[in-house]
Amino acid sequence: MSNTHHLEQILVGHHVRRTKVRVAVLDIFMQRSYALAHAEIEHLIGKAFDRVTIYRTLKSFEEQGLIHRVIDDSGSMKYALCQAGCAEHNHHDQHIHFSCVKCGHTFCLDSVPIPPLQLPPEYEFQKVDLLAQGICKNCR
Ligand SMILES: [Zn+2]
Ligand SMILES: [Zn+2]
Ligand SMILES: [Zn+2]
Repeated sequence: MSNTHHLEQILVGHHVRRTKVRVAVLDIFMQRSYALAHAEIEHLIGKAFDRVTIYRTLKSFEEQGLIHRVIDDSGSMKYALCQAGCAEHNHHDQHIHFSCVKCGHTFCLDSVPIPPLQLPPEYEFQKVDLLAQGICKNCR
């Protein structure tokens, strides 16, 4: 368990009300370097909180710039902690994600930006997700 006071400070910094479930979910993200699916969080948190409460927590974390969605090849939506700089309704997570074929985890590669795309002029750009695959540094 990370320092609860530190976790609460992060919540306050993102204008998220401090509750037990929010501190617990944030702690789970802080302890891991890879993206987590709802089911994994539910499993890690145990029986203390139901799935709807966890779902709402993830939703508010995403809205407040604490976590962002990670689309990988696992078939379930995952979330990862944002680096400092994301705020309420204002994400800057323009990095690629890396999915490891050995451990199955998906990591944020914050230092690798998504290269600019040249779309045909009749298409309006909104967002792009880029997933690289291979073997992560822990599995090599
Ligand atoms: Zn973000
Ligand atoms: Zn790996
Ligand atoms: Zn990411």
